[in-house]
Amino acid sequence: MIRKIITYPNPLLNSVSKPLETVDDSVRTLLADMAETMYVADGVGLAAPQIGVGLRVIVVDVGGESGPGLLKMVNPEILSRDGEIEWEEGCLSVPDLRVMMKRSKRIRAKYLDENGAIKELDAEDLLAVAIQHEIDHLDGKLIIDNVGRIRRDLYLRKRKRAEEHARESIVL
Ligand SMILES: [Zn+2]
Repeated sequence: MIRKIITYPNPLLNSVSKPLETVDDSVRTLLADMAETMYVADGVGLAAPQIGVGLRVIVVDVGGESGPGLLKMVNPEILSRDGEIEWEEGCLSVPDLRVMMKRSKRIRAKYLDENGAIKELDAEDLLAVAIQHEIDHLDGKLIIDNVGRIRRDLYLRKRKRAEEHARESIVL
């Protein structure tokens, strides 16, 4: 089922999500819904708080022939980091904004898969960036937290205008 993606400045996006104790059918349904929602929205990752669910669950699929494909990660955490990379990131919850972010180039992550098995994964470049971006969501952090107040205010005004315009245009 496709879920609605909430957007900044919804305060749910700034909350710290809770870890799961078990991976049961309700979590598997959540993961499937999140993957579907991510693909439909044309994103490479999605975190549960982006659909208003405060649990430490993410999905990531950066595509590519050699990549791992769709990753469903419960309670993901970063075990180690190496190197630095700058990446211009966007976010489904912060539409029409791109922010240059400094990330670790390589990471080793640990998580539970959809069967509750403990997994470890080495990731670099885009995959590493995507996992770091999604884990940020679980900690209530957004890319827009890294821009200055002036650019943030400007963005909010622009979004407000765009939303008003969208409302007007559906009145037929
Ligand atoms: Zn995001």
